[in-house]
Order: sequence, then structure tokens, then C-alpha cells
Amino acid sequence: DNLTAVSVASCFAYALRLFQSRIHESGVRVEQHWPEQAVWVRADPVRLEQVLVNLIGNALQAMNDTAAPCLTLAIVAESTTVYLDVADNGPGIDEARLAQIFEPFYTTKSMGSGLGLGLSISRRIVEDLDGQLDACNLPGGGARFRVRLPRIADPN
Ligand code: ADP
Ligand code: MG
Repeated sequence: DNLTAVSVASCFAYALRLFQSRIHESGVRVEQHWPEQAVWVRADPVRLEQVLVNLIGNALQAMNDTAAPCLTLAIVAESTTVYLDVADNGPGIDEARLAQIFEPFYTTKSMGSGLGLGLSISRRIVEDLDGQLDACNLPGGGARFRVRLPRIADPN
């Protein structure tokens, strides 16, 4: 691993850029809730970006049949902890399957469109950074995935 101080917003920006044309084509509204100051974590930036790419990709897929798709990204900073949230207003997750979705090869997608590895790999990456990755359903519909990581001081 290549651990360094990483700005959380720059990781989000990288991941979002990958999906930009798809977001525009499918008319997805994107809401970003960023704190004014940069927030830093210690991570391998490539791996943290991979986690966000997995979560955003899942969120977009989940909203394929959603009338007014909205992707909500948030960075919430506490004194020693940072939360990176990826939320959608798709169908949400079957409550009985909330734990299972993190198991390797668990997928509800048809052959070829999903291997079922994204969430298990993402959780592993986050846990290797002393963090946590969890999912919940939102009261208004949709799912929210939350990465929790230790916050570090601004390296500059
Ligand atoms: P894959 O995307 O290849 O299916 P993942 O590990 O990324 O594998 O996700 C596993 C499963 O978790 C998905 O097939 C889907 O059933 C469920 N899931 C993941 N993200 C969402 C989401 N945003 N909304 C609803 N279900 C989701
Ligand atoms: Mg996936």
C-alpha cells in the first residue's frame, strides 16, 4: 500500500469525473455536501477512489428505473472521524439482505453486469484503514452507504 495524506474531496472529485458523462446522459441530479475546509485521511488514494467508484457505480445502477434520480454525496467531518456518504433515491436494499450484500459474489444483477465483488473489496479496503463501511435504507426511499475513516490533521 501507498499510504499518504489524502483530501477526501479530491477522491470524490476523481470518482465523480469518471461517471460524469453517464450522469449527464441519464439526467441524474448530483448533490454535494462538502465542509468549507479540506478534510484529510491517511489512505492509498487509488484504493480510496476505487471504493467511491464502486459505491457511486452501484448507486447509479440502482437508480436506472428511478423517475427523478438523485445522487447525494456528503463529507461529514468530526474531530477525529470523517464520514463519506454516497446516497441514492433508488429502490433501496431488502432489509433481510443488508448484511449479505457485503459478502463476496453476492449480487442481484444479471450475469455479466455485476460480479458481486465491489462491496466486499470496498469493505476490506476501508477496514484496512481502520475504518468501517456500512449501508442503510433511507426513510424517504433509497440507500445510503457510509465510509467511516479516522481523520488526520491537514498535512500542509
Ligand atoms: P455488484 O454491483 O457486482 O452486484 P456489489 O458488491 O457492488 O456487487 O453489490 C452487491 C449487491 O448489493 C448488488 O448486487 C445490489 O443487490 C446491492 N446494492 C449495492 N448497492 C446498492 C444500492 N445503492 N441500492 C440498492 N442495492 C444495492
Ligand atoms: Mg457493484
